[in-house]
Amino acid sequence: MDEYRFCPRCGHPLEQRKVGDRVRPVCPNCGFILYINPTPAAGTLVEDDGHVLLIRRAVPPRAGYWALPAGYMEADESAEEAAIRETHEETGLDVALDALLNVYSFEDATHQRGVLILYRAHVVGGELRPGDDAAEARWFAPYELPPEDQIAFSTHRHALREWLRTRAVVYRTAVEGDIPALHELIEEYDQPRWALEEWVKEPNHVLIVADDRGTVVGYTGIVFSPPSEEARLMHVFVLPNRRRWGIGSHLIQHALKVARERRARLVTTRISAGNPAIAVYLKQGFEVCGMFTRPANNGPRRTWLTLCYTWPDEPPDT
Ligand SMILES: [Zn+2]
Repeated sequence: MDEYRFCPRCGHPLEQRKVGDRVRPVCPNCGFILYINPTPAAGTLVEDDGHVLLIRRAVPPRAGYWALPAGYMEADESAEEAAIRETHEETGLDVALDALLNVYSFEDATHQRGVLILYRAHVVGGELRPGDDAAEARWFAPYELPPEDQIAFSTHRHALREWLRTRAVVYRTAVEGDIPALHELIEEYDQPRWALEEWVKEPNHVLIVADDRGTVVGYTGIVFSPPSEEARLMHVFVLPNRRRWGIGSHLIQHALKVARERRARLVTTRISAGNPAIAVYLKQGFEVCGMFTRPANNGPRRTWLTLCYTWPDEPPDT
């Protein structure tokens, strides 16, 4: 690194010396060792009604190219704070972070290395207007996205490609043809075993799959017990490499839609009290309506929560 020629502490010229198993700039006068580390940056993939938020850069590097709202972290802020601040500065919108999306290592045009921390986020306020270092800020539907060679950075291209992939997932009732793939998932990921052949035949059991262009990437089930107006939502499973993209939320939403079509008034589900997925249910409108403890497989007692979903108004007449 040629640009670091003098000691920042005493001004003496630095020398390249072996420190441990690396050669680093070292000050022979005061002993200062210059560590050169990647610079952390943070940003957001903000989604609203199926659209993603992009800005067109007004300043180098890559002026004129489209990018996700992101920028370098300040010394006194957390990654989360930096992501929220950069989004506000570049787009005028206030966002709340939903989940960590991905972490990318990168090297920019000047060979500065960095780490980009991207979060999924949603809008909670503000007004869309491009900030000082953005020429434009706007929403894109999947089919409107700028071509990849107009996206500023490879990390952002990667994140948008992943987002597009998730947009291709459809949610539907499982059919007999899905059973072999579902058995494989259950086996491979050691999930609770369900009598799937019964599930697809029995009218009071509805098995729902997330289908990514022919591949099952997640599932859940909902059980009706007429004449009871209560439906029971079962375990929700999403392939580990497809998590954090809202597939679980969509499976739950689809199950709720099915329940409403069947005139259920209440949907309940049970979840281990320590399971962070509780947040996903609460975001869909579930409330905690009960708690119980029960030994898990002859092990220690575990606390479970009952979560309930009710509709604000009467079910539709069909
Ligand atoms: Zn020095």
